[in-house]
Amino acid sequence: MNNSINRRANFIRYSFIENMDNNLLAFENKISNNGIDVKWISNEEELVSFIKQDLPKAHFNKVCFDLPHIPSELADTGNLIKNISVEDVENNIESADYLITNANFGLVDTGSVVLFNHKCKNCFNKVDHVIFILDINNLIAKSSDIGIILSLYERDLIHGNQQAIDIISQPFNKIISNSYQFEQENTYSTQKVSVTVVLYDNGITAIMNNPKLRESLYCINCGKCKTVCPVYKVNHKYTPIELVKNNAFGTNRKNSDIFENTTLCGNCDKVCPVLIPFMSLLNSEMELINTNDHEDSWHDLGKIMTKRLKLNKLNGKIRRYFFVRKLFNNNKKLLNYFMSQQDDFYNLTSTKEEENAKL
Ligand code: SF4
Repeated sequence: MNNSINRRANFIRYSFIENMDNNLLAFENKISNNGIDVKWISNEEELVSFIKQDLPKAHFNKVCFDLPHIPSELADTGNLIKNISVEDVENNIESADYLITNANFGLVDTGSVVLFNHKCKNCFNKVDHVIFILDINNLIAKSSDIGIILSLYERDLIHGNQQAIDIISQPFNKIISNSYQFEQENTYSTQKVSVTVVLYDNGITAIMNNPKLRESLYCINCGKCKTVCPVYKVNHKYTPIELVKNNAFGTNRKNSDIFENTTLCGNCDKVCPVLIPFMSLLNSEMELINTNDHEDSWHDLGKIMTKRLKLNKLNGKIRRYFFVRKLFNNNKKLLNYFMSQQDDFYNLTSTKEEENAKL
């Protein structure tokens, strides 16, 4: 996969990332002028404290989350937060003070946020305050380029639901029924819903400081790499892009994670629509760990891994004995999976172009 759309998408992402500081300032400026508040947050701890401090009441603030991962401190807060489901807000069963969700992209030139398939979209005008969490690498400099990025997603995501894409540029109003006035017909008034965009660092500036790993920030979260990863298929631990970014954070995750969760099969390289060079990024990470780590076992394993591309050329049996055993001996589930593969278990999934070419 390396056609002109993919190269163009790669360039769109490259241009944004290499000029990220200026783009973020321009976005902040534009979106503030549109009447939306902006808050810069570094990590989950700061995010939790921002949300807690912002809550209007001492007890039972009603918060509706539409997030893939709710920080545990917000999910279980004693009597500070009462979690309200999206369905209850949407169906007017419960009201909520806050709605907190993530945004897929920000558009720098228009100061807008783009949302795909958000479950909570029908709740925006039923709460007092909406917070969109936007990773600082997920911006596009020119709104005219969003169409190219969207074209790289699976068709189902974009067209499966007629209303799948929403672009929010301004605060909106909530309609309030004034039925308490006991008039024959209800009267209605509107109330402004305040909107905040959290520009969320989430370890991204740490990756920016590594010129090589910066390319991992091109990711548009299409999810294609995880669907073709043979290791993720078995253990669901790290998607390929999470594995690449893992060591960049340099935090509590172990160096060994990178060795234990890849076979360097290259499937992710083949499907990534923005052309993130997974093999080269993983190899550099491993070489770096090899250079810095003097423990013999990892040193030996690292040498094997960095020779992986050569091993690709060998037949399946040799790979199994010299590579898979050494790699996954401590992880019986993965070892059994790979040992049970009779044929070439690398490059399991061919790309769509290859499939079409076969027809
Ligand atoms: S294939 Fe993976 S790394 Fe590439 S854009 Fe999609 S999710 Fe990101």
